[in-house]
Amino acid sequence: MIYYDAAIIGGGLAGCSAAFHLRQRGASVILLERGRCGAQASGVNFGGVRQQGRHPAELPIARRSRTIWTRLPELIGIDGEFRATGHLKLARSDADMANLEAYAETARPYGLVLELLDRAAIRQRYPYLGDGVIGGSLCAEDGQANPRLVAPAFARTARGLGADIREETEVVSAAREETGFRIRTAMGDVLQARRLLNLAGAWGAEVAGWFGDHVDEGVMAPNMCVTEPLPPFLGPALGVCGGDIYVRQVPHGSVVFGAGYGVADRDRVRARPLAEATAEGVRLAVAMIPRLADALLVRTWTGIEGKMTDGLPVLGPSQATPDLYHAFGFTGHGFQLGPAVGAIMSELALDGSTPTAIEGLSMTRFAAALPDRDAMST
Ligand SMILES: Cc1cc2nc3c(=O)[nH]c(=O)nc-3n(C[C@H](O)[C@H](O)[C@H](O)COP(=O)(O)OP(=O)(O)OC[C@H]3O[C@@H](n4cnc5c(N)ncnc54)[C@H](O)[C@@H]3O)c2cc1C
Repeated sequence: MIYYDAAIIGGGLAGCSAAFHLRQRGASVILLERGRCGAQASGVNFGGVRQQGRHPAELPIARRSRTIWTRLPELIGIDGEFRATGHLKLARSDADMANLEAYAETARPYGLVLELLDRAAIRQRYPYLGDGVIGGSLCAEDGQANPRLVAPAFARTARGLGADIREETEVVSAAREETGFRIRTAMGDVLQARRLLNLAGAWGAEVAGWFGDHVDEGVMAPNMCVTEPLPPFLGPALGVCGGDIYVRQVPHGSVVFGAGYGVADRDRVRARPLAEATAEGVRLAVAMIPRLADALLVRTWTGIEGKMTDGLPVLGPSQATPDLYHAFGFTGHGFQLGPAVGAIMSELALDGSTPTAIEGLSMTRFAAALPDRDAMST
C-alpha cells in the first residue's frame, strides 16, 4: 500500500491548490473529493477576487493570494479569467463613508492601497451609478475571475505533476495511528498518509470532529443572479458598505449580482436560491445601477458554504492530533483566499509552519465558547 506524504480531504479551490503546492515541493499527495473538483462553493461563487474589506486577520493571506492570482497562467496554464478590474466599495451614507476612511487606515500597514472617492469623483468616473451613492473606496488591484475554471485547473495541473486526484471518492472516516493516518472511503478503500489536510469546506467541522476538534460551523447559501449579456459598461466589481448587494460584469457582458441568501441542505448536498432574495437583489441592484431595470434576468443559483460565528475561517493545526491541519468555514469569502490557503497548507504539512501570519484564525479562539463535549457525554 502507498504511504502518501499527505492526504487532502476536499477538492475545492483550497484543496486543489494544496495538492498543486505539495507536488511542487515533491511530496507524494492524494486528494479525495466526494464529487468533482471545484463543483461546490469554489465553482459556483460570485467570482469576486477582493482584498478590500477583509478583516486584518485575513489580510496577510489575501495579500499572498493576490500575488498568486497574477501568476495563474505560469502556474496552472490558464488565467481563470482573472482581471484586475478594481473593486469599488460604495458608501450610501456619511457613516458608510467614515467606515471606508477608517478601513483605509487599517489596511495601509498591510500594503493595501485604497483610493477614497467623494460624490463628485464617483459621478464623474462611474456615471451609471444611482443617486443613493455618495462616495466610495477603490482597490485598483482587486478584481474578478471565473470560479468554474480555477479549481479544476489547479487539480489538472497537480495531477500532471503526479498528484493522485480521486474524484467521486467520499471519505467516510479517518483516524490517527502511530505514524500517520488511516483513511477509509465510501467504496471501502483504505489509504494511508503521514499528514492529513482537512479542506472539506462546509463539511470541515464534521471532519475535524472525527479527531476531537469540535467547533460549530453553520452553513450559508449566498443568492446569486445573472442577466442577459449587456454592452460592457461596469469596469470594477462593486460592493457596498453593509454587503447587502454586490455586482460585476463578466467578459461576455452578463451582469452577475448577489444579495441575500437561499437555502442550503448540507446533509443532502443540495442548495437552492429563494425568490424573495432574488426580488430584493433586483431591487438593490437597480437602485445601485438604474440601467439594470431594463435587463433580463436569465438565471439564479446558490451554493453551500461553511459559516463561522465570527465570520472568519479556521486555519491552522489541529488542537488534538499531530500532523492534522484544518482550513474551512470561509463564510462567503474564501475564493480570493483559496490559492494562498493551498500554499499555506502545503507549508504546514511539510514544514510544520508557514511564513504567512495565520495566528488570528486558529481554532483555539472558539475554545472558551464551546461546552466541554466530553463532560456533556458523561
Ligand atoms: C454563492 C457563493 C458566492 C460566493 N462568492 C464569493 C466571492 O465572490 N468571493 C470570495 O472570495 N468567496 C466567495 N464565496 C466563498 C467561496 O466560494 C468559498 O469560501 C470557497 O470556495 C471555499 O473553498 P473550499 O475549497 O474551502 O471549499 P469547497 O469549494 O466547498 O470545497 C470543499 C470540497 O470538499 C468536499 N468534501 C467535503 N466532505 C468530503 C468528504 N467527506 N470526502 C470527500 N470530499 C469531501 C466537497 O465535496 C467540496 O467539493 C462564495 C460562496 C458561495 C456559495
